Order: sequence, then structure tokens, then C-alpha cells
Amino acid sequence: MMPEDHSRVGVGFDIHRLVEGRRLVLGGVVVPYEKGLLGHSDADVVLHALTDAILGAAAMPDIGEMFPDTDPRYRDADSRELLTEVVNKVAMRGLSVGNTDVVVHAEAPKLSAHKRDMIGTIAKLLGVPAECVSVKAKTNEGFGAIGCGDAIACTAVVLLVRRSEPQLPARSTRTEAGAHRLPPYEGGMKGG
Ligand SMILES: [Zn+2]
Repeated sequence: MMPEDHSRVGVGFDIHRLVEGRRLVLGGVVVPYEKGLLGHSDADVVLHALTDAILGAAAMPDIGEMFPDTDPRYRDADSRELLTEVVNKVAMRGLSVGNTDVVVHAEAPKLSAHKRDMIGTIAKLLGVPAECVSVKAKTNEGFGAIGCGDAIACTAVVLLVRRSEPQLPARSTRTEAGAHRLPPYEGGMKGG
């Protein structure tokens, strides 16, 4: 059993290769750029790190164990839906997100113009006010794969707080009947 009335902190990290011919999706926001991240579905490195941070704070299996890409159900899953599913899973344990701090490690593109959108989208997915979400962008000063523009990585820290009453899921998840689906990204998602 988890100790009562304790806040729990979790950290998540993810990295994806940047390639041509893919859409760049960061924090649930489509960012115009000549390249995109390679991976299943949208390869949203920010939401993956965030999802792993929540799972880590709850000491639950990580994103790769919970949603194996060998399982056809998750192969092309929308990262926003996986995050929502995890938020609901911890809510059923009486835990909800207090705040999150996210660092996007990217040499390019510049993300300052998209931060507000990313914060708004992440806050909505987590069910918290925008004041509880921080998104920072850092270059890698030219070092390594990130510095060469071959990859984008993300580090996320999440604080989970225990609510007095276990909460029912705020939204239904994609696997449930009558699930409320998130609007698709414009133009659909390229597979890969
Ligand atoms: Zn990932």
C-alpha cells in the first residue's frame, strides 16, 4: 500500500530520431518543421516522457510495458490517448497530477512560439490549470545526436498528489465503449 497523504514524484525521459517525411508533434501540438520524429503513431517525445513520469510517480510499469508496441492495439495509438489512459489509471488509485515541469532538448526548431499551445494542451490532458504546467526548451549546444539535429529528447518531472477521495476517471479512454475520442491531428498521421 502507498503511504497516505504523501506526494509522489516521478521522472520520465524519452528520445526519438528526427527524420524527413514525418510530422513533428510535441506536447500534443503540431510544430511546423522540415522533419518529424520517427516512431509509432505520432512519436510525441514530450507526451511519452510525461506519461512515463506519471507512471514512475505511481510506481507502475513504464510506458513500454503498459503499452507494448508489439501489441497491435497500441501500435498506432495516439499519444494523447495513452496519456489520458494513464491519468485515469492513477486517478483510480486516488492520485492526481499536482504540477509538471518539462524540458524539451532540441537544437531546432525554435519552440518559444509553441510553448503556450503545448502548455494549454498538456494542462487539458492532465486535468490541471495551465499554471501547473511548465515547458522549457533547451538546445544541446551542438553536442551529440541532439546537437546535430538528428534527435529530440524530453525530460519530464511530475508531482502526484493524493486526493482524499479516489476519483473516477475524468474521461473515458479509447478502449471503452462510447469513448470520447480526441480530435485527430489535421491531415491525419503518417504511419511509421
Ligand atoms: Zn517515445
